[in-house]
Amino acid sequence: MMRQYELVERVQRYKPDVNEALLNKAYVYAMQKHGHQTRASGDPYFSHPLEVAAILTDMHLDEATIAVALLHDTIEDTSATRSEIDELFGDDIGSLVEGLTKLRKLDLVSKKAAQAENLRKLLLAISQDVRVLLVKLADRLHNMRTLDHVPVHKRLRIAEETMEIYAPLAGRMGMQDMREELEELAFRYINPEAFHTVTERLADLFERNRGVIGEIESSLAGLFEKNAIKATVKSRQKKPWSVFKKMETKALSFEQLSDIFGFRVIVDTVEDCYRALGAIHSTWSMVPGRFKDYISTPKQNDYRSIHTTIVGPSRQRVELQIRTHEMETVAEYGVAAHTLYKDFGSKTKDGGHKISKDTNAYAWLRRTIEALSEGDNPEEFLENTKLELFQDQVFCFTPKGRLIALPRGATPIDFAYAVHTDVGDTCVGAKVNGRIMPLMTELKNGDEVDIIRSKAQVPPAAWESVVVTGKARSAIRRATRNAVRKQYSGLGSRILERAFERAGKPWNKESLKPVLHRLARKDVDDVLAAVGRGELTSQDVVHAVFPDYKDERVTQNPKAREEGWFNLRNAAGMLFQIPGRSSRRKSRQNKETAMAGEGGALPIRGVSGDLPVRFAPEGAVPGDRIVGILQPGSGITIYPIQSPSLTAFDDQPERWIDVRWDIDEHMKERFPARLSVTAINEPGSLAEIAQLIASNDANIHMLSMARTAPDFTEMIFDLEVWDLKHLNRLMSQLKEAPCVSEVRRVNG
Ligand code: MN
Repeated sequence: MMRQYELVERVQRYKPDVNEALLNKAYVYAMQKHGHQTRASGDPYFSHPLEVAAILTDMHLDEATIAVALLHDTIEDTSATRSEIDELFGDDIGSLVEGLTKLRKLDLVSKKAAQAENLRKLLLAISQDVRVLLVKLADRLHNMRTLDHVPVHKRLRIAEETMEIYAPLAGRMGMQDMREELEELAFRYINPEAFHTVTERLADLFERNRGVIGEIESSLAGLFEKNAIKATVKSRQKKPWSVFKKMETKALSFEQLSDIFGFRVIVDTVEDCYRALGAIHSTWSMVPGRFKDYISTPKQNDYRSIHTTIVGPSRQRVELQIRTHEMETVAEYGVAAHTLYKDFGSKTKDGGHKISKDTNAYAWLRRTIEALSEGDNPEEFLENTKLELFQDQVFCFTPKGRLIALPRGATPIDFAYAVHTDVGDTCVGAKVNGRIMPLMTELKNGDEVDIIRSKAQVPPAAWESVVVTGKARSAIRRATRNAVRKQYSGLGSRILERAFERAGKPWNKESLKPVLHRLARKDVDDVLAAVGRGELTSQDVVHAVFPDYKDERVTQNPKAREEGWFNLRNAAGMLFQIPGRSSRRKSRQNKETAMAGEGGALPIRGVSGDLPVRFAPEGAVPGDRIVGILQPGSGITIYPIQSPSLTAFDDQPERWIDVRWDIDEHMKERFPARLSVTAINEPGSLAEIAQLIASNDANIHMLSMARTAPDFTEMIFDLEVWDLKHLNRLMSQLKEAPCVSEVRRVNG
């Protein structure tokens, strides 16, 4: 295991003014915290963060990043806390360690290839600081190097994740060495057979071509000497994974691969790159279509080099990369090669390391993180710029680990619709990270969202203004439209049933089929809905089916708009969801007398015509002063006069309709009222409240949890009660219950 002074020396070699105290403190702290913990290999656990730190010293990173590497597993695996690390090392290092702790949680999520891109973006969005990613990649590299010690069943998952997520990420950060090593290590576990075949054949090929390689190398060296260019020539062999990938994607056999061997020419200056290129091209012929100048047009990840392929001295194809030493370092270490951290060394008062947000380096860092999520061709870059990428997106998980990408500002409702339309349509609540949260909650990156569903649910139209995704909006619109239509056709069906009965004619929906053309409707349901909406009168339908029928009452007394009365009564019955069928039947009989001129049996007076009437969601009970609000296209909504919701209609006096209750003693109907009950969290609270409600002769129509806190729960009860007196009696009894802290009427 590397000693403390060895680590410091390694950093000192490339950064003579290293903050030794910081490295020593992090070394000792992490070693003490990990204590006697061991790895799967049996090694002391501390050897792992130490190796991760060592990988980062190879990349010449600053001491703050090295310290973060040493500390990277302490919050997750030991008694260390964020605040302790903040106190000892400053909150800059503290936040980086916490960033790594967050990223580690993502390792537990199951991943599918299709999600890899989203997951990479999530990693970037959560990381915020490129150093967190550098430590994460070094961490993954060391874990891959020691994967042999991990139980067999876990190896494949880790290897696949490395291939899909981390290797491409390293590539995008310009760290080609890291990418290649991760790919080779992962390849070995993902497809061991192919790995061994390709590796053996490459070794075999190398043996057979040893002479040719030497020959090319010396020809190149001679050429540069002749032209007075100071250059180093290195032969390089393709890695098994890239050979295998090429064979697969281009459907080539091993023998058909021409560019298994390549050479790298490293020179001092950019000018020398072009001089070397000139010398090569004027000596050997180049293979058309293989020349690329990444010096004049660098890749997005800052990669610069000249690529060309020539027909070499022994007539074989030779792939060449020409670059300067600096370009070579960038190609190897990518992001890490930039000396951006040199001005981050300044200490804060508490001894921590501060990143000044106005340095160019910081701006560069932000830009890099943004660029990382982009591909390396200009078209893709432009496309991604337009999408503004992950600044505008949040990535959330289903409980099974499926990753859902949503626009920023999305709610659990959007999430539900993104999972499936059915899930959205039946969504009644949501747990975000295990806690029940309001459906309006704005989701954050990495949230796990569990949708609570109920088959009885119809998405409220009001959701339309809450959601941000088009998919959710159109689905809500459709579902609302269907629900409204269903209500109208149900209403229409009742109206027609009564109208046919009164006419003394048999009623059957099927009998509408032959007369659809006469009614100018496309199907039976359309007829029912039209009657429900009042676009078609029941008499028109009766006449269409029985053209000979004469409605005597209409001719005798045109003012008696029977179906108006029936409509209202039935609308009330259906829309109010009032239980007690028998009592309604009784009131129906009363209505026959009402039609005869006595009136008075309707629950609400002051409304007429075919308009359906319903209560506001918060309900209204006899005893409340009430007002009707005309809802164009959907009828009349009854509100208690003190309801705060009414302010929305303040500037539309034409929609206000004077209504009053019309209740008589014999009527036994219940009415809706909504209560908020805040109860102390203790076993049996809910049972006690429900019992109290039941023993007071009230029905619970629906119950939802509005707010939960450790000590109390706010519950919303939709009740059915007889009247205001009944409701008030119930409320005062609830207030007296020991487990109840508050009872109030919602909007009533
Ligand atoms: Mn680790």
